[in-house]
Amino acid sequence: MLDSDQSDPYEDSGSEFVPSEEESEVNKTKGTSSEEIQEEKTRKFKPKKRIRHEQNWRRAANKRKRCTGEEFTTKSGKTVLSKPFLFFACACKNKCHVLLPEERQREQHTNFYALQSFDLQTSYLFSLVKVVKKLRKYTENENSKRETTKK
Ligand SMILES: [Zn+2]
Repeated sequence: MLDSDQSDPYEDSGSEFVPSEEESEVNKTKGTSSEEIQEEKTRKFKPKKRIRHEQNWRRAANKRKRCTGEEFTTKSGKTVLSKPFLFFACACKNKCHVLLPEERQREQHTNFYALQSFDLQTSYLFSLVKVVKKLRKYTENENSKRETTKK
């Protein structure tokens, strides 16, 4: 038996929040999809299909976790660790540390994993990569430089 304390708030909210129009719409959708629901029920009773379902679910979850940088374990038991933000102190002459200080790098890390899709992440990276022709490499050796000038 229900307590009077529990049943009272339910009755109040029921009369206030459920309009009759919404109810009829719910009934409509139930009527159209009843066959599909029935199929779904019969499928679930077959054990083979159920296992395949769980494998698909796990694969989908891992796929999502890889894109969001979360840790996950593969079917073969391999653990792929999460991707925490790591500051990269670049020491090249292009002054990367000035152009991309720690807070900008953190921003990029957050934005990248917020895309949550391998395709979006790949196209994002490609949009940033500029392909240029290989520049001629000048040797620091004075002698070899002089030789080419003479010729
Ligand atoms: Zn650099």
